[in-house]
Amino acid sequence: MQKKNKYTILVVAVIQIIAISLFTSCTVNTPSTFCHATGDATNPYEEITVDDATAKEHLNHPNDIYPVPIGGCPTSPLVIENDKITICHATGSTTNPYNEIEISAKGLNGHADHENDLIPAPEAGCPESLVIGMEGKITICHATGSTKNPYNEITVSVNGLNGHDKHSNDIIPAPEGGCN
Ligand SMILES: [Zn+2]
Ligand SMILES: [Zn+2]
Repeated sequence: MQKKNKYTILVVAVIQIIAISLFTSCTVNTPSTFCHATGDATNPYEEITVDDATAKEHLNHPNDIYPVPIGGCPTSPLVIENDKITICHATGSTTNPYNEIEISAKGLNGHADHENDLIPAPEAGCPESLVIGMEGKITICHATGSTKNPYNEITVSVNGLNGHDKHSNDIIPAPEGGCN
């Protein structure tokens, strides 16, 4: 008898856990943080936290992305095609640190919580070595075009790279030994 009671309690507990997780996954959450597209190329996104009513307005903005990624809003404007953006997803592998993937600009398919993802992917492709961000910043070698001094070592924002995502000759991240 004692055994049977314990079993019943366990079954009830399991059913409760399943019920709670089903309920949670069925709840539709209106996003509360947005990268609101400003239309200004030098400062393309404003990071905002809004209530439900205001969120509904931002859901209608085609260039807004949500939620705000953990590394902050991109510092360069994203190319959104059919609501999709291209990012570098951090794999956790040292030999192949990033996967270049397409995700939804609306919701980010859960990648907003991935601390090491790069949003967007640089135009020259995802880095071949892992970018270690210091509070959302990384050091890169910016190609100057000069033969005498080909690179400037600079620190930029991980997401958007302050527009250097468009520079195909930049080295991202800067090698350990420095740029030159
Ligand atoms: Zn990711
Ligand atoms: Zn650059």
